[in-house]
Amino acid sequence: MSLTELNPFLHFYLVLSAVLGSFMNMLVWRLPRKESLGGRSHCFSCGHVLSVLDLIPIVSWLALRGRCRYCGVKIPFRYLWLELGMLISWSLCWWLSTTLLQLIVSSAVVSIIFFGVGLWRAWPIAK
Ligand SMILES: [Zn+2]
Repeated sequence: MSLTELNPFLHFYLVLSAVLGSFMNMLVWRLPRKESLGGRSHCFSCGHVLSVLDLIPIVSWLALRGRCRYCGVKIPFRYLWLELGMLISWSLCWWLSTTLLQLIVSSAVVSIIFFGVGLWRAWPIAK
């Protein structure tokens, strides 16, 4: 019996976790740099607006082998790890049948860890 036979909601749940990870990646990049949270996602190097195919969590990073489709700049592993981290965190919460509060706390912990990494990367001394 597959996991999806156990609950058809699982597909949506796992996709939502990766999408949330992708959204958190946007926050981790933009908040320390005081960039607007509105507007389309763009390459941090060439500024090219990313297409829908470039924004599929986990899949796009793997398909592009961690590089920008337009300028070829390397996209840090942090993007993939945050999306995977959120997917793993949510999967564990599903498996352990945690409460919604525990799911929110685990998502916050994963995000805070990567937000800390993002802050560190935004400091001029770290470049
Ligand atoms: Zn680029």
